[in-house]
Amino acid sequence: MKKKTQLIHGGVGLDPQTGAVSTPIYQVSTYKQDEVGKHKGFEYSRSGNPTRHALEELIKDLEGGKRGFAFGSGMAAITAVMMMFDSGDHVVLTDDVYGGTYRVMTKVLNRLGIESTFVDSSDLENIEKAIQHNTKAVYIETPTNPLLKITDIEAAANLAKEHNLLTIVDNTFSTPYWQNPLSLGADIVLHSATKYIGGHSDVVAGLVVVNSEELAEDLFFVQNSTGGVLGPQDSWLLIRGIKTLGLRMEEHEENTKKIVEYLTGHAKVSKVYYPGLETHPHHDIAKKQASGFGGMVSFDVGSEENADRLLTNTKYFTLAESLGAVESLISVPARMTHASIPKERRSELGITDGLVRISVGLEDAEDLIEDLERALSR
Ligand SMILES: *Cc1c(COP(=O)(O)O)cnc(C)c1O
Repeated sequence: MKKKTQLIHGGVGLDPQTGAVSTPIYQVSTYKQDEVGKHKGFEYSRSGNPTRHALEELIKDLEGGKRGFAFGSGMAAITAVMMMFDSGDHVVLTDDVYGGTYRVMTKVLNRLGIESTFVDSSDLENIEKAIQHNTKAVYIETPTNPLLKITDIEAAANLAKEHNLLTIVDNTFSTPYWQNPLSLGADIVLHSATKYIGGHSDVVAGLVVVNSEELAEDLFFVQNSTGGVLGPQDSWLLIRGIKTLGLRMEEHEENTKKIVEYLTGHAKVSKVYYPGLETHPHHDIAKKQASGFGGMVSFDVGSEENADRLLTNTKYFTLAESLGAVESLISVPARMTHASIPKERRSELGITDGLVRISVGLEDAEDLIEDLERALSR
């Protein structure tokens, strides 16, 4: 099955009881048992719900793994994955991971004894140097947020295997439509489905797919024990979003190409970060491991004042956190998504006060460029 077909026909398909073409929303908490322990596969909705199950099967198919899991947010998904480790275990992570990932590792999970080291994983040597006797996993985000740095997933997974470590990939930016980390050797892939997978700024959710029965058992145990599951309504919204994921990603990409071309020629823009640019330092790796470059672009307008002027003067780019929806969004990572990272650390990473991040939506590209032109020329 090709990707666009799989988006529509993957997972469990038609409802076997009624023939309903759209998966019904099973708004239910508990299920009748014919005898103690004898049931039709569902007992209690924290352990399993038919709508959530349909979504979990679908994301499993899309990522090509053994089992899928749906959580109440991307952070709940990431936390559940980390809860598979023990106190005293150590994880090596990409340095410019999502701010919430940095926060949960350094302010919450550290209290439970799960240690972490952050390195620029786009250079494999940095990963290798950070591996300790108690390291259990390499956690990669690629492309990263907001600098669009790329890590070679296959090379990182090979390195991890040599050291008997798991490879975990946050695939939020690329989506399963463009990039499938499990096929490149990763063990676990996860998403903030709040972004492209949902795609309409109307649901907060997280998804995980694992590549072995053993990991599936471990993660199911954590999911069922800690209980951060996704509800049936939100599961249904994601199934609906996924049906158009292919169309949306193709169109995000088309719009983004045009905007990147406009920005790279602009006098007030000092730097444009986009993996689709041939001048991007990891363009070749991006091209090798993903079939599209996505709809996220960052660019530097030199100062906080310039950034503010731009942000407050756009009409179609809405000033908001988040990304990956049909609406174009604009943000300043230093004061928004990445505000939880201390300032010194931000400047080390290159997240300057003049760095602006846009999530290119599905409006007409001409309108979007006109909007940026108007705001930049103030
Ligand atoms: C948004 C995001 C998360 C966190 O997901 P939530 O759904 O907001 O909890 C994790 N990783 C990346 C790359 C994100 O963009």
